[in-house]
Amino acid sequence: MSIQEEALAPNFLKNLIESNLKDNLNKDKRWSGKPGPASVQADAPFDKAKIRTRFPPEPNGYLHIGHAKSIIINFGLAEEYDGECHLRFDDTNPEKEDTEYVEAIKDAVQWLGYDWIEDGRSNLYYASDYFEYFYEFAVALIKNGDAYIDEQTPDEMRRTRGTLTEPGLDSPWRNRPIEESLDLFERMKNGEFEDGTYALRAKVDMASPNINMRDPVIYRIKHAHHHRTGDKWCIYPMYTFAHPIEDALECITHSFCTLEFEDQRPFYEWLLEKLASLGKFLRPLPKQTEFSRLNVQHVVTSKRKLLNLVESGIVDGWDDPRMPTIAGLRRRGYTPNSIHLFIKRLGVSKSDSFIDYKLLEQALRDDLDPIAPRAVAVLDPIKLVITNVEDDFQEHCHAPINPHNPEAGKREFLLTKELWIERDDFMEEPPKKYFRLFVGNKVRLKYGYIVECTGFKKDADGRVYEVYVELIPNTKSGTPGSDSVKVKGNITWVSTKYAIPAQINLYDRLFTEASPDSGTKDYMDYINPNSLKVVNGWLEPGVEILPGNRWQFERLGYFVADPSSTPEKGIINRSVTLKDSWVG
Ligand code: ATP
Ligand code: MG
Repeated sequence: MSIQEEALAPNFLKNLIESNLKDNLNKDKRWSGKPGPASVQADAPFDKAKIRTRFPPEPNGYLHIGHAKSIIINFGLAEEYDGECHLRFDDTNPEKEDTEYVEAIKDAVQWLGYDWIEDGRSNLYYASDYFEYFYEFAVALIKNGDAYIDEQTPDEMRRTRGTLTEPGLDSPWRNRPIEESLDLFERMKNGEFEDGTYALRAKVDMASPNINMRDPVIYRIKHAHHHRTGDKWCIYPMYTFAHPIEDALECITHSFCTLEFEDQRPFYEWLLEKLASLGKFLRPLPKQTEFSRLNVQHVVTSKRKLLNLVESGIVDGWDDPRMPTIAGLRRRGYTPNSIHLFIKRLGVSKSDSFIDYKLLEQALRDDLDPIAPRAVAVLDPIKLVITNVEDDFQEHCHAPINPHNPEAGKREFLLTKELWIERDDFMEEPPKKYFRLFVGNKVRLKYGYIVECTGFKKDADGRVYEVYVELIPNTKSGTPGSDSVKVKGNITWVSTKYAIPAQINLYDRLFTEASPDSGTKDYMDYINPNSLKVVNGWLEPGVEILPGNRWQFERLGYFVADPSSTPEKGIINRSVTLKDSWVG
């Protein structure tokens, strides 16, 4: 079983589902195969899905690591309990939504290993397909005396809403005759009024201790173009009104959302109870349950803030490998399994926390270590010359493709007279405990021979550009003499004659602060100026630079070929270093 198929550890959401299933709570639930109110579901067969969940993103940006948690919860639990999960675009807010985002969201969900097809039927829905229903139900509430048209300004409404300790004040329009509200609502829909002049409010309780119950606005006028319905509507339902109805139309059993919606739950229940009692929905009604958001340190997880990074040019787009978007993580070299592993390790609870970015990185290492092929790369090259061999010296060396998996076989490359090594593998004046190259010291050229450093050359600026060594015969790795000389240093190298050049992007944290957007902080003040360093390096011959190919470059970390990489110009992204190297 792959990590992806591994279930979430026991948690309160699973306990809830199990207890609901035990009580047979949804035994009377019907599902016609498409969303709709009681009239559409009443004669339908009983729902075969044991539970029905949904992942309801607003298509106003690319999904981020926080959404991955919600996806894994909703799709994962549906899979585990023989249910179905809907992908629903919550696109009732016309202004910031776009079809580019719709496509990117579908892509992210599929990349994480899920889809919305059940028995050949698609569970992909758009809240904007329900605009007629929202309107119909709003009219039903008005007719029943449960909603009214208010003409206070948004400002007046805010002022009369009361506080946590004081009740709100009734609007002067609260007891407007039903007929009048119906007429005004229709005229709102017909486009007779400007934005903000009228609003439809639910008539609940202006003295409720929960401010969300103090006659929330449920419909507003907005003369705006919608990416799917065009200019058909100039009134749009508010989230608090739309979301419960979307769940009920789709016959959702468990509506899982993040904790900030806890205070909205009483209205969710009030509204669905009203509509059920008016015959609009069958029981059992969907139930909302909240879990804690995922916050990760050193990133921001808000589509609005991520959009700002894109628009201000701080990153190269939504899929910039520094972005905590699913598209960015993917381009950075994260695997679907590593994301699953990360989310599953964190578990599901009701307590909010900021998760250390290191845990995300560790999940990637843990996923890749057993599977990633190894190779050698030199990122900051200086030349090493073996002085005591012929110019055309060539010798085959072998190394495991993956030391955890001998069956993967061996790789082969040539040791030649001139090699590229890392600049910091040589020191003119070594400190104590430096075991790599300095004049007089011996090291092993990994998978090759032991060499002794004999000298070096500096350029006019005093920068070392060539290091000289003598090869010690009969010390080759894997031969009986390899242990005859003991050394403490083991350095990686590639042949200057055969190495492949590549551009290598070294990424680091995007923000210098662990929580760049907490409290009154402005996250834009904490952009890490060194989050990207581009170097020209050399790769072991035999490495195939095809977009998406991954390796562990020995001693350096895990790397992936960028989608923009071509055979002529290899572009490689560092996904993560081998060990945690972040200071701060
Ligand atoms: P953003 O502020 O980034 O736009 P959102 O909550 O407004 O986030 P939606 O598109 O409405 O984004 O989210 C879809 C679903 O994903 C919701 O059910 C939401 O609760 C969940 N979700 C969003 N962010 C997180 C997070 N950080 N952790 C867990 N779930 C999240
Ligand atoms: Mg949102």
